[in-house]
Amino acid sequence: MRHRICLRIVSTVLNTKMRSHTYIDSLGSARMMARALDGKALAKEIKDELKIKIHNWINAGHRAPSLRCIIVGQDPASHTYVKNKIAAATEIGIEAQTIKYDATLTEEALIAAIELLNNDKTVDGILVQLPLPNSIDERRVCNAVAPEKDVDGFHITNVGQLCLDMPTIVPATALAVIEMLKRFKIDTFGRNAVVVGRSKNVGLPIAMMLHSDKNHDSGLGMDATVTICHRHTPPAQLELHCRNADIIITATGVPKLIKADMIKPGATIIDVGITRITDEQGKTKLVGDVDYDEVVKVAGAVTPVPGGVGPMTVAMLMHNTFQAAQKIWQQ
Ligand code: NAD
Repeated sequence: MRHRICLRIVSTVLNTKMRSHTYIDSLGSARMMARALDGKALAKEIKDELKIKIHNWINAGHRAPSLRCIIVGQDPASHTYVKNKIAAATEIGIEAQTIKYDATLTEEALIAAIELLNNDKTVDGILVQLPLPNSIDERRVCNAVAPEKDVDGFHITNVGQLCLDMPTIVPATALAVIEMLKRFKIDTFGRNAVVVGRSKNVGLPIAMMLHSDKNHDSGLGMDATVTICHRHTPPAQLELHCRNADIIITATGVPKLIKADMIKPGATIIDVGITRITDEQGKTKLVGDVDYDEVVKVAGAVTPVPGGVGPMTVAMLMHNTFQAAQKIWQQ
């Protein structure tokens, strides 16, 4: 009896995270819509797991993992992102603080502030919210964070280790995509995957893990055959590559770039893009790169925006912070 209740709970949880429905096509036939891969529910599950691990870590005599988020300037979206990260950290037992600076802060002053945190033994994770004001060199700032505290995974050492399939700290958004593929049991072995977008913080690390060998040290390889498309990929080529893909990961910030006629029936689509648009009614809303309402009629599984990769990114940042705390303690 207990066994049956457990099974029912598991199946309810799975159904909630991978909802699929039917729709009536133009010929009046009922067709299956793609599974919506619910990143919000999965992120909650991961944060709940972390909360228990952190509770056990503290009960074993360690101090709480700690995170410092630096934000420079007044960009409202950046402030919202940082607020969400601090709230998620606090909720699961990570001691988190925001350090705010005016946009007039100099590069040298920012680097001096980072060095103080690098040398602070009570700090495990340091995150500098991007973008920074134009007067500041982002690459220099990313490289100023101690690699072992670089929970964004943007330091040149962490990027290099990722490219060599070595254990490292992986950028949270890329890790979120890989974790979603794994936990939603999307088969990637030998499959054709297209990554649309080649940025160093998002598209590149996703492509690195997707094509890598699972048996290498990082354990993050997905063994797919990977094509990377970008702004100079001619639209007709983008369509061809996408149509041949079992999995499409798109991270461009171009709304409706990925349309239903570019999708192989049954393919999995992970939409990383987030763009704020104003609709016909004058309401602002967040959309991804995928023409979601049409793509769900062809694809096998799609992540929604919002509620897909976004919440998972926050959850994986928490994973990185706890991982950093554990590694620093071992040193
Ligand atoms: P970016 O501007 O650095 O890179 C955009 C990439 O898209 C570039 O590589 C560019 O070549 C490519 N691109 C642009 N137009 C294209 C086109 N027409 N066809 C093919 N490729 C095209 O941006 P980024 O930092 O990589 O972020 C990409 C998107 O992901 C943005 O919408 C961003 O808001 C979003 N994002 C979401 C999360 C999350 O947690 N969900 C995290 C980071 C970024």
